[in-house]
Amino acid sequence: MTTPSVVGIDLGTTFSLAAFVENGRPHVVRDPSGIALVPSCISFHDDGSVLVGSAAKERALSDPSHTIFSVKRLMGRTLADLKKELELIPHQILEREVADGRKVLHVNIGGSEYTPEELSALILKEVRKRAGNPTKAVITVPAYFDDSQRQATRDAGRIAGLDVLRIVNEPTAAALAYGLDRRGAGTVAVYDLGGGTFDCSVLSLADGVFKVLATNGDTYLGGDDFDRLLMQAAAKEMGVDLATRDAELLQHLRDAAERAKIALSANESAELNVAIASRGVKFLRVVTRAEFEELIRPLIERSLDRCKAALRDAKLTPSQVDEVVLVGGSTRIPYVRKRVGEFFGKTPHTGLNPDEVVALGAAVQADILTSGRRDMLLLDVVPLSLGLETLGGVVDKLIHRNTTVPARATTRYTTGAENQTAILLNIYQGERELTKDCRFLGTFKLSGIPPMPAQFAQVDVTFLVNQDGILTVSAKELRSGAQAQVTVQPAHGLTTAEVDQLVNDSIENAQEDFTARRLIELRNKGENDLRHTEKALSQAGDMLTKAQRDAISSATTTLRGALASSELDALQRALDAFGGATNHLATLMMNEVLRQSLGGSNEDDLDPNKL
Ligand code: ADP
Ligand code: MG
Repeated sequence: MTTPSVVGIDLGTTFSLAAFVENGRPHVVRDPSGIALVPSCISFHDDGSVLVGSAAKERALSDPSHTIFSVKRLMGRTLADLKKELELIPHQILEREVADGRKVLHVNIGGSEYTPEELSALILKEVRKRAGNPTKAVITVPAYFDDSQRQATRDAGRIAGLDVLRIVNEPTAAALAYGLDRRGAGTVAVYDLGGGTFDCSVLSLADGVFKVLATNGDTYLGGDDFDRLLMQAAAKEMGVDLATRDAELLQHLRDAAERAKIALSANESAELNVAIASRGVKFLRVVTRAEFEELIRPLIERSLDRCKAALRDAKLTPSQVDEVVLVGGSTRIPYVRKRVGEFFGKTPHTGLNPDEVVALGAAVQADILTSGRRDMLLLDVVPLSLGLETLGGVVDKLIHRNTTVPARATTRYTTGAENQTAILLNIYQGERELTKDCRFLGTFKLSGIPPMPAQFAQVDVTFLVNQDGILTVSAKELRSGAQAQVTVQPAHGLTTAEVDQLVNDSIENAQEDFTARRLIELRNKGENDLRHTEKALSQAGDMLTKAQRDAISSATTTLRGALASSELDALQRALDAFGGATNHLATLMMNEVLRQSLGGSNEDDLDPNKL
């Protein structure tokens, strides 16, 4: 095997593994005996050594107090989030306050404390080592993981010495592994039944990009439950009480149950065999597939109820789902495949190993991110801010840098001139305040606005960046319904170095930009105020005293002078003075507007101040 520089990692509750792309195809990383799955299990030893994987799992038999499972359940959680977990994890879990008052979760294993991030990092390190110590990775998480759970996963990657290129949803990775992105459009249901958890995700695919429409599941439903049902059946016949604190016997029972369960996926019957020679324990029983199916049937029905709920949230019926993907080791059970197929009314994808498919998809994603195949751009954030030119060459940013995609923002503009029937929209990208320092992306015109007084038109401009980083700008005048749309491609053609340079420029020039921008804003305001005041004076001037009119006239002269001088401080002072002088006039005008609207005018939404 060649050593990959980047891998996809499925960091699972019960099993973890890595995969990488070679010659255009994804492969899972296998150990010399051909095994890919690494049990997500860690054991700590007195001599300071740490074992991860099947060695640790074996150690759990003889020394459960120094072994930990299911760390994923603790990632990014607080003590208050954990209820069931506390019963199931046989270690003390506590919160410690750190310097800045934040509380950090710790697990006490054999007298030493570890954070969940450190523990997950140990698993990631082992998986990384098996892949030849690559430095970059894409790591998958369940679609329902929140921000802090994702961040904890990222941190675990960093602790393990990995540059985490991206955190990817497990169902999306599975769909990618099957190449469903090449379908172009449709809906995909991902049924993931693993060791301890069940997830159902409904994805929509548009232009080769997946979006999670809905997720549902049960964080306590999985293969472990099937093992427990078999254990219970065996324990009853053996006359053993499962509440026993006999850890050794329980672990042997559990192992025997899991072996029988796995054998039943390939055979019509299997032996459930528990033997501990040193203790004279000997139990042998043949279990048939029909018996096993009867045992697990209620749990499978429960999982299908969760699918129903996910579909309901996505507003879809089972028949509207185009593709069904099976994920998780427990979907190797023939009965599960059959029931899922019946539920959706179509044959699920099963061509890839269900416990490897997430890692394979993560590898595909990692390859896309690093190979520079920009044609399959999978942007997760907007690299540079996107905005529109407003009066005087200022960029009004609608979508800010580093917003995750897909991103949408709407803002409302109005017309500046009387009877203006068209608006020209210039689109820019960049971090600077002025259009002359940003990258011009395109322009388009919204025409067909009926003649109206200045500031009466209401134009909603919407920016939409899809997962591919492609920007669509649309505009609609709300009173007339006039609309227009244009698509631009901002992400192409900019290298990372350029992005960095642009970001640096904006930091270096921030002060200068700010002054220039402020000046333009104040000038616009000044000109606007003068225009409005002139109009108001012609309508209501005779309701003012002579002193009030004189004060306005003198403030107007000062403001005109300041506008000509382009001096920021002088302009600011003149504007303040002008505001004071026109205060009474503004109140008169406002009362007039109010009176008209209360008087039954059906145009009471015309107040331009709202814009
Ligand atoms: P995770 O929960 O970490 O995502 P997996 O998807 O690898 O884990 O699922 C692990 C579960 O799959 C375990 O409960 C295991 O017993 C079960 N499993 C693996 N192979 C089979 C099989 N052939 N038949 C039935 N169950 C299986
Ligand atoms: Mg899994």
